[in-house]
Amino acid sequence: MADKQLCMFIDLNKCIGCNACSVACKGENDIPEAAWNTWIDSFDYEEDTNIYRANIPMQCNHCKDAPCVPVCPTGASFFSEVGTVLVDTEACIGCGACVEACPYKVRWVNPDTNTVGKCTFCHERTTNGLLPACVSSCVTQARYFGYMDDESSDVSNLLAENNGGDILHKEFELETHVRYKGLEHLKDYYGKTSVLRGGNIKEISK
Ligand code: SF4
Ligand code: SF4
Ligand code: SF4
Repeated sequence: MADKQLCMFIDLNKCIGCNACSVACKGENDIPEAAWNTWIDSFDYEEDTNIYRANIPMQCNHCKDAPCVPVCPTGASFFSEVGTVLVDTEACIGCGACVEACPYKVRWVNPDTNTVGKCTFCHERTTNGLLPACVSSCVTQARYFGYMDDESSDVSNLLAENNGGDILHKEFELETHVRYKGLEHLKDYYGKTSVLRGGNIKEISK
């Protein structure tokens, strides 16, 4: 178990679906053309005769007891000392076992290197005192980042104010470390209308 636990908190009431975060992440992390570490699922819903647009940023949730880790045959997927799930690309053989095991479907295979990628919580930046690129670039400051157990952090305070924050797909029964404000309110509407996946600009479900 990690000594410390990094966490991202995303306030869906602030996200406008502009994808500045998705693009900043691609630039920072040198992501290949067809892949995204983070993207926005957007959909419209009706409530009290008004139409609203929901925007939900998606990425690796850095789950505790993540199922993507034990299936890795080489140990390339591992838990870091700051509570993140990372991939050692030197050890990755691109077998795709972790891609299949992740219920959130946030991992991708780099066609140039045959190794797996996903959100790292910007490991190089955040272990050197910087914020993740997606947090720094968010135009509305919808994203917050810090240690859960640091009582002075924004994340810690927001988790306390919001009953721990909402977990994406609670039915997966994973303890995630990306938490949301406003997600529970949207769950009855998700999937009732077309969902546009921001990063790839394509419709993924109806
Ligand atoms: Fe692993 Fe998927 Fe959880 Fe990320 S979201 S830690 S890739 S199971
Ligand atoms: Fe991308 Fe870093 Fe944000 Fe993860 S934390 S989605 S790697 S910018
Ligand atoms: Fe939402 Fe901020 Fe990303 Fe724009 S930059 S899509 S407001 S999280």
